[in-house]
Amino acid sequence: MNLENYIRDIQDFPKPGIVFKDITPLLLSPEGRNQCLQQLVAAGAKHPIDKVVGVESRGFFFGTLVADRLQAGFVPVRKPRKLPFQTLSESYALEYGTDSLEIHADAIQPGDRVLIHDDVLATGGTAAAVCRLVERLGGEVVLCSFLMELTFLNGRQQLDNRPIHAVMTY
Ligand code: IMP
Repeated sequence: MNLENYIRDIQDFPKPGIVFKDITPLLLSPEGRNQCLQQLVAAGAKHPIDKVVGVESRGFFFGTLVADRLQAGFVPVRKPRKLPFQTLSESYALEYGTDSLEIHADAIQPGDRVLIHDDVLATGGTAAAVCRLVERLGGEVVLCSFLMELTFLNGRQQLDNRPIHAVMTY
């Protein structure tokens, strides 16, 4: 089946006027998940990768699987006050509000080649903040990887010239 068929549009979630791309039908399907994972891994395997950084929370579903297939470490980037050790923090503007994200200070070593994974690239604020966290620790962002890119929100502009791969584009 076409992967787009596993994505469900939810009108007015989480706020009026937002059309939310819901990936839970994809998660329900072993075939859909596998197809997605294969594409994410194929894109990641074009580069040597030391760490996969997954963004809370929907970036964790495939992030750990991609890390496993690429034999890379997995690093969670989380919402404030969730990580127990010493952290670095970056603020970002979301499609609907503002927030900040944190990473463990010892999660990335200088020179680490990093793949960042999240479910959706929308306005790009989230992914740009994660890139800044990785780069502040001396890591090199070699790929920003997404299930979906919402191209009409121009998230690419926020990521400057960092390489981007998305399984699906809208
Ligand atoms: P951005 O910062 O505007 O690019 O928003 C991306 C972040 O918001 C990601 O962490 C996504 O999980 C979440 N997000 C934004 N829009 C959607 C959507 O339509 N479906 C699922 N997640 C979304």
